[in-house]
Amino acid sequence: MAEGCCTPGSNIMILACSGASNVGQLTNQAAVELTQEGFGKMFCLAGIGAHLSGFVQSAKDVPQMVAIDGCPVACTKAILEHAQITVKGYVVLTEHGIEKNKNFKLKREEIEQVKAAVRAACNGQSEGAAVK
Ligand code: SF4
Repeated sequence: MAEGCCTPGSNIMILACSGASNVGQLTNQAAVELTQEGFGKMFCLAGIGAHLSGFVQSAKDVPQMVAIDGCPVACTKAILEHAQITVKGYVVLTEHGIEKNKNFKLKREEIEQVKAAVRAACNGQSEGAAVK
């Protein structure tokens, strides 16, 4: 039987846009901290964007995934779709009430908010199922 999505150490791929704004860097920081805490593993979105075969195949094969975009430009989602990878769990930070700006001094409460949203996007994501 497959591990549940939120089982510590389970194989959840976390893909962050890591963009040049507060929301972009919030995706990155949340992905780093969730990885450090054992909730999934951050993966190199740039490798997928470069269409490097090993990266693309890993993203196609992974049972559970959360893609995180900072804003509605949706770069992570576009990269995945361009590489014909099914977008499973998905979070856009501006849809969670965080306004985009150029302030890189990240707020702890917003980092925690993003981490909670990523966990929620993973909840109920069954292995291999396309959530959106
Ligand atoms: S989704 Fe928004 S914040 Fe993220 S890289 Fe694209 S434009 Fe930047």
